[in-house]
Order: sequence, then structure tokens, then C-alpha cells
Amino acid sequence: MDAYKAGLYRVDIMIMLVDDQAIVGKLIQNMLAEHADISFHYCHNPELAIEEAISIMPTVILLDLLMPNVNGLDLLKKIRQHPTTRDIPVIMLSTEDEPSTKVKAFECGANDYLVKLPDKVELVARLRYHSKAFIHKLQRDKVFEALQKAQAELEKQNIELLRLSQLDGMTEIANRRYFDECILIELKRAFRNQLPMAVIMLDIDHFKRYNDTYGHLQGDDCLRKVARILKQQIHRPADLIARYGGEEFVILLPETELEGALAIAESICEAIADAQIPHQSSTTAKYVTASLGVTSGLPNSTDTPDQWLKQADAMLYNAKAAGRNQVQGLALPSL
Ligand code: GH3
Ligand code: MG
Ligand code: MG
Repeated sequence: MDAYKAGLYRVDIMIMLVDDQAIVGKLIQNMLAEHADISFHYCHNPELAIEEAISIMPTVILLDLLMPNVNGLDLLKKIRQHPTTRDIPVIMLSTEDEPSTKVKAFECGANDYLVKLPDKVELVARLRYHSKAFIHKLQRDKVFEALQKAQAELEKQNIELLRLSQLDGMTEIANRRYFDECILIELKRAFRNQLPMAVIMLDIDHFKRYNDTYGHLQGDDCLRKVARILKQQIHRPADLIARYGGEEFVILLPETELEGALAIAESICEAIADAQIPHQSSTTAKYVTASLGVTSGLPNSTDTPDQWLKQADAMLYNAKAAGRNQVQGLALPSL
């Protein structure tokens, strides 16, 4: 596990020295001994360096350049490649003061270079400088990660809020406000693309009597059942079912001609009757039924949602007048 990322990062200074010579280990340890805020770990076996670094999480690695079996520069490259150790500051320690050796060390990813044995004051100053920079980096990473998490959570909540603001709480289909936004966009799109669209208005028959007979709560239940039937009958992702108000529903069908819209309206009308929701006081049937008005066509550039809804409502009125439990429709250009 990446211990740094898990938040177990250090706030104190921890120096890890990788050097095969125990005497160097002892000398560096002595130099740091009087600094209570600096912890020291000596790793005498370079082959264990990465493993030990992962386990103790140093804020600086002091790395010997010349060791038997392991080349300090190769080990440095490995430190830079490992996901847990790659950002740890590394100070190369070497007896060599050759500029070309220093260049190689920096090319391999060293942060600093000290000639053995360094002056105590300089060593401590450099260890503190690199440790603090690393600790601040870890803290910034952690704050950034927390910020990203909070942002993602906020985005999720905003999406959920938006979704809820578009829904009718009772039937869990779109509400009228959302429908009003959509029909306006759809009218423009249909005109721009010169494609037909259709609107179906649905009103439950004798619903006042239903409430009077079964009570308002069962009335609400009936509305939820009708909404569920509508959802089952509408399949295209672009189609939109909304509760228009009270016991009235409206369906927006982009790219749909009158013929297709009438067929959908008929299947909805049948499905509601077939659901056989008892309605003993209805004078139309023994079950809940609905009347539907359909309008369809190619919108004009000046068409308004109100005109389309009025036309669908007029068709709905015709369906009521003609005996309810049926569909009436009319295509444009009668708008
Ligand atoms: P018609 O066949 O002509 O449509 O008759 P109707 O009784 O359905 O029409 P009307 O408009 O007279 O009555 C609508 C009823 O719908 C009245 C109202 O109490 C009821 N209603 C409206 N909204 C709700 C609701 O959210 N829950 C319940 N339970 N009833 C509602
Ligand atoms: Mg009504
Ligand atoms: Mg009604």
C-alpha cells in the first residue's frame, strides 16, 4: 500500500542513510544526535533500501554513490521508478567531487549532492530544507486529494438536486416545469431540423368521482399506477412523459408523425383500461380509463408551446365529448 497517499505521511523529519560502511552511519548519526526533531535510520544493505524506505517513510534519503554489489546511481533510478519512493528527496553522498559525477547523479534524479564527510551545519541545513519541501508537498497532495473528493461529491449532489428539481415527487416522472423547458427546446430543434414532433395530452376519466369513491390517498395511488403504465408504453430515450397537473399527463414525442403518435396514444389508452383498476362510479367503464388528445406536425419558426398544448387539449376535449376512453388527434397545419 502507498503509505504516503493513505495519509500516514510524516510531519517530523526522518533521514534514511544508505551506506555500506558502518562508520559513516555512526558519524552521520552523531552529527544528527543533538537535533531532537530529526530521526535517523541507517540502512547498511543497499539491496534492502527500497523495502526499508517504504516501511519507515523517510523525508530524505542520503545515498552513498559507491557501494559493493550495488551502484548508487542504479539504486537512485530504482527509487525514482517505485511509486512509493519516487518523490522522496535523495541526497547523494560521495567521496568524489568530480563535476561529471555530480551531473550524472542529477541526471538520475538526485536532489542534492554532498561530498563525504559533509560539514555538520551544512548537512543539517540541507536535510531540513529537503525534508520540509517534501513534507509540504505531501500535505499539498493530501489537501488537493480531499478537495477533489469534495468537488466530486458536490457534483454528484448537484446532479441529484437537478434531477429532483425536474421530477414530480408523487409519480416520479418529469414535472411540468421540466416539460415546459423541453417542449420549447424541442420545437426549435424540430423546426431547425425540419422534422415532425408530436404532443399527447392525457386526462383520467371521472377522476373526481374516483376520489369521492375511494378517497384521495387511493386517488394518489391510481395516479402513480397510470404514470407507471405510461413509462411502460414509452420506449424511445428522447420521449418525455410529464405530469402536467392534477390527473393530467403530457407526452412529448420528438421526430414522430401523427400516425405514430396516434398508435402510441391508442396503446396507452388500451393499457390503462387493461390494467383494470376498479372504478365503480365511472359512467364510462368499470375500470379507470383515460382520454387522450394528440397533435403532430412540423413546427413553424413562430410556434409556441402554448399553441401546441392548446391544440392537444382541444383534441382531448373532443375525446371526452365523443365518450371518453379514446384517442382523438389532428395534424398540423391546423395550428
Ligand atoms: P373528466 O372525465 O371530465 O376528466 O372528469 P374528472 O372528474 O376527471 O375531471 P375534473 O377536472 O372535474 O376532476 C379532476 C379531479 O382530479 C379533481 C381533483 O380532486 C383530482 N385530482 C387532481 N390532482 C389530484 C391529486 O394529486 N391526487 C388526487 N387523488 N386527486 C387529484
Ligand atoms: Mg382534468
Ligand atoms: Mg379527468
